[in-house]
Amino acid sequence: MEEVRVRFPPSPTGYLHIGGARTAIYNWLFAQKTGGKFILRIEDTDIERSTKESIKGILDGLTWLGITWDEGPYFQSAYADDHQRAAQKLVESGHAYKCFCTQEELEGKREEAKRRKEDYHYDGTCRNLSVDEVNRLEAEGRPFVIRFKVVRGPGGVLFKDAVYGLIEKKYRDIEDFVILRSNGSPLYVLSNAVDDIRDGITHVIRGQDHLANTPKQIMIYEALGENLPQFAHMPLTLDPQKRKISKRAHGEVVSVQYYRERGFLPWALVNFLVLLGWSTSDNQEIFSREKLIEVFSLEGINRANSVFDIRKDDPKFFTDPKAISINAHYLRTIEIEELLPYVQAEMEAAGLWDPAFGAKKKSWFASTVDLIRSRYHTTKDFVNQGRCYFADDFPIEDKVLRKNILKHEDLKQWLPLMAERLEALEEFTVDLIEQAIRDLAAELDVKAGILINGARAAVTGQAAGPGLFEVLAAVGKERVLHRLRETPNLY
Ligand code: GLU
Repeated sequence: MEEVRVRFPPSPTGYLHIGGARTAIYNWLFAQKTGGKFILRIEDTDIERSTKESIKGILDGLTWLGITWDEGPYFQSAYADDHQRAAQKLVESGHAYKCFCTQEELEGKREEAKRRKEDYHYDGTCRNLSVDEVNRLEAEGRPFVIRFKVVRGPGGVLFKDAVYGLIEKKYRDIEDFVILRSNGSPLYVLSNAVDDIRDGITHVIRGQDHLANTPKQIMIYEALGENLPQFAHMPLTLDPQKRKISKRAHGEVVSVQYYRERGFLPWALVNFLVLLGWSTSDNQEIFSREKLIEVFSLEGINRANSVFDIRKDDPKFFTDPKAISINAHYLRTIEIEELLPYVQAEMEAAGLWDPAFGAKKKSWFASTVDLIRSRYHTTKDFVNQGRCYFADDFPIEDKVLRKNILKHEDLKQWLPLMAERLEALEEFTVDLIEQAIRDLAAELDVKAGILINGARAAVTGQAAGPGLFEVLAAVGKERVLHRLRETPNLY
């Protein structure tokens, strides 16, 4: 069996967006599954729009996602000679020709077609120029482009796409398309095919928006006498209004970086993106890396476009709720050791990191993270909602203060009293804490819930969270006593 070779060839004209990342992921998965090679090629021939920052952003984004490549990055701009040579070869073999029509002439014909309400196709003016004529025009220094000579006659290009099935494009619907500009630079259809040939690509897995280019590229392959790769086009990703997701229309919310900066775990994002256009027959949603590689197949790619439920303006979710729920799933269930570096990075960025959390207090840090993660959605939550576990300056929600502390006048005395009882404990363990608080409630003849809610508000500033006794043990004796004593006096 021939070795599978797939590629991801982004144009470096902006950040790595979720559509590009999904394409890379599908290719990577296919290579992983088949024991093939995944090649990264930067299509940087559009010098004006390509930037170094974009290249860096793409490489960083893929690396962060854990999408590693086996070869490259190759840079398309380094292969300009290959593209020109291929165009030359096509001219020599009679599959392409030099076209000397000027912009003005073409524009005029286009206008004319428009007036007649006809579709404009290049009319083939230069298709049959004699060798002498071509030589004369060239000798005059007239600029020319190179056009591919599409078969004129019945029939068309027929190919089988792994996702969309049999596709036919009639020759009569394809004009003699340009493959090389007058300045010698190649058009995408040529350079991309020539590079795929050179890189030995066996499977072209890319967005459905490139389906229209495929018949042209197939003609190029055939004219160059090369074997065709297998094509697999993926459905588009649309927003809830059914518009195509794009950098231009949606801005940063569709960039990989956006998720990275908002506390996503890389594999959670990979898992979510994979589901935008691919599914298993039983619609499973959570896949470990190994499992995904095992079950992924080109046949599982859907034809229907997928919807990315962007919710940038929703106060509750900052993106697709499914993305958030998948992230929460991983955040709550992965090995704690795997999670800690992400939490550490967040804490460092928020100025909350204490080197002791990674040394002397490591086991306390790990168990605290483990305790609080069960309600969190992103790693940001550790420094926002979780701030009270790691710092003394944390906010108390207004509503919580009113409902859980101020509403019960007596808590002003009871909370300091609770501090006194807790101070007397020999060990600050969950069981002893619980016992002390329940005893106090009995003694005061109040519902334990009032003391518990009051203590939670004073110690965490929040109305909900993990079991209060665990919370107090995690926050630690000294801090708990201080908060129980001070909070009621603050108001
Ligand atoms: N540079 C092209 C793009 O970013 C590559 C398309 C392809 O995979 O052939 O859309």
